[in-house]
Amino acid sequence: MTTDAVFSGRFSFEFFPPKTDKGVEKLRTVREQLATRNPGFFSVTYGAGGSTRERTFSTVKEIKQAGYDVAPHLSFGGDDENSVLNLLNDYKQQGINRIVALRGDLPSGMGPQAHLVYASELVTFIRKNFGDDFHLDVACYPEIHPDSATVEKDLAFFKQKVDAGANSAITQYFYNADAYFYYLERAQKLGIDIPIYPGIMPITNFTNLQRFSSMCGAEVPRWISRQLESYGDDLESIKAFGLEVVTDLCETLLEGGAPGMHFYTMNQAEPTLSIWDNLGLENVSS
Ligand code: FAD
Repeated sequence: MTTDAVFSGRFSFEFFPPKTDKGVEKLRTVREQLATRNPGFFSVTYGAGGSTRERTFSTVKEIKQAGYDVAPHLSFGGDDENSVLNLLNDYKQQGINRIVALRGDLPSGMGPQAHLVYASELVTFIRKNFGDDFHLDVACYPEIHPDSATVEKDLAFFKQKVDAGANSAITQYFYNADAYFYYLERAQKLGIDIPIYPGIMPITNFTNLQRFSSMCGAEVPRWISRQLESYGDDLESIKAFGLEVVTDLCETLLEGGAPGMHFYTMNQAEPTLSIWDNLGLENVSS
């Protein structure tokens, strides 16, 4: 579907750091295609435990040098304070002024000696060492983080990140708009007043979506998964249905007051651009 409305807000596009020269080259093209829509910023993911430290840094540096605002994702993983401090200083030197601060998930094979540091501790650490030099986004989970025992605990830990100094939050992706609106209501009742940007995952491939969703605790509603399943290998039908579903979701979110959106692009331009153009989005804030 295509809407006539023009929605405005903060819109951002997430990439992962490519592993190969071909991937780097492809991301340049994707970045330039997406840049034509004038997003608020790009962001680049980080493998907790430092597994992508250099690749995330070089991807961020290149995007910044090409003239765009960009936010590296960052987590302690198994790193010590000095190496995180050095990395933050390097980013500051590059003119980076926003960070997506996370606990992260350790890649398998890191061993039990590596321990994860809660995102609230990273936010506190950045504020202590850099004051307000960085705009800090944190993650939150309308369908509840998989490690959380209850929604109350999850929200209380989210509030900890806000109290530590987070400026805004980006959600895990979801396909049920009610989960987001209910989460906003609960957060507001706890006094959380920072903007909460829905994370949007375009649908392009059923197998990957299912695998990824079961790992990160995002639910693909039965009516969506059954329909996608029925298309088998017919990728065009999967994409067309996915575009319709996600456009509708975005429209509902923006009409309901979402302050913008963050797209998990998976380093592809076309799925995000199609949603963007269906919605007639306009970035107005950073
Ligand atoms: P936290 O906020 O630290 O929470 C982690 C869990 O611990 C939650 O269950 C929380 O309720 C609980 N908790 C928090 N504080 C406490 C406490 N004091 N005591 C007990 N329990 C506590 N992963 C990556 O590896 N790299 C990325 O680049 C990346 N980017 C992401 C971007 C976005 C927008 C989102 C939504 C997720 C991203 N992730 C990324 C995934 C994320 O790292 C995982 O979901 C991870 O498991 C949790 O990270 P967090 O920052 O939300 O953790």
